[in-house]
Amino acid sequence: NKQIRLARRPVGTPTLEDFSFTEAPIGTPGEGEVLIRNVYISVDPYLRGRMEDVKSYIPPFQLNDVIISGVIGQVVESKSAHFAKGDIVIGMLGWEEYSVAHEKTLRKLDPALAPVTANLGIIGMTGLTAYFGLLDIGQPKEGETVVVSGAAGAVGSTVGQIAKIKGARVVGIAGSEEKCSYLINELGFDAAINYKTEEVGKVLEKACPDGIDVYFDNVGGEISDAVFPLLNKFARIPVCGAISAYNKTEADIGSRVQTYLIKTSAFMKGFTVGDYSSRFKEGGAQLAAWLNEGKLKYEETIKEGFDSIIEAFLDLFKGKNLGKQLVKISEF
Ligand code: NDP
Repeated sequence: NKQIRLARRPVGTPTLEDFSFTEAPIGTPGEGEVLIRNVYISVDPYLRGRMEDVKSYIPPFQLNDVIISGVIGQVVESKSAHFAKGDIVIGMLGWEEYSVAHEKTLRKLDPALAPVTANLGIIGMTGLTAYFGLLDIGQPKEGETVVVSGAAGAVGSTVGQIAKIKGARVVGIAGSEEKCSYLINELGFDAAINYKTEEVGKVLEKACPDGIDVYFDNVGGEISDAVFPLLNKFARIPVCGAISAYNKTEADIGSRVQTYLIKTSAFMKGFTVGDYSSRFKEGGAQLAAWLNEGKLKYEETIKEGFDSIIEAFLDLFKGKNLGKQLVKISEF
């Protein structure tokens, strides 16, 4: 059973050397447990935070822990009354070929309802993050302007589409021409800005002639500095992520956002998707309905092979993914 462990805590941008590949015997399920052959591994920017030894909303990985993230796999042996051999399941499992997990930590997936991988993206964790962050905190109204950073990623691409469903004008900020044209031509964004080649503040001003009512922030840093001066009175800012800062070793000194919050009486609130766990059913059902009605689209970037998991994780910080980044390590 190949496994990937945290060998040391990354300083700055993680490297291959921060992880170790180990081999262990395949586990045996006890009462109420199942043995799973893992098929799809989700790699996510938030895992970078768990590699730091700091207090957060989720405990840090310990050194030599197997890395854990969202995983879809197939039951190969069951000592649980709730799961049978062949069932496809989702849970928080290890970066390993086989996992033993308790029935209470798993959910069975029905491939007839949606492609199973959607449960790690658009109707799963990243979709729910977009749904609750935008609708509960952002509260976009018809005709308002919504700006989303990290717009072509898993969360951002969903945020923009939900904002369109709610009748808002949507402007995305992303890191390549290809991503920007995807946002406009495939997802129906009204405008998109390539922050790597364009001067975000200037272009944004043109793209948002009526100012900005909702800023869904996935990246923080200089991009947020460019957005804040354009906020309208009573703007709302769901603070979802700050990927531009995750690999920084020194504090990121930007413009002082507080002045803009005062000037505009804006509302800025951080959140984690876990804050909404009691409403996941509602959010999941709505996202699935929009998906089936063709109102939501999604992309996945899927790398193949167990040995490419770390590279896929590191690619997130290089912006190599369009939509949800996954790794396929075996077949159903
Ligand atoms: P994405 O699919 O958006 O992948 C990350 C993307 O971030 C990359 O594709 C890249 O796109 C962009 N990026 C990387 N480095 C930088 C940088 N220095 N500056 C600007 N953009 C950068 O990942 P997710 O959708 O899973 O996550 C998006 C954000 O949401 C992250 O910050 C994550 O931590 C956060 N998050 C928060 C949750 C919560 O509960 N609060 C839950 C899930 C995610 P590009 O080419 O555009 O640079």
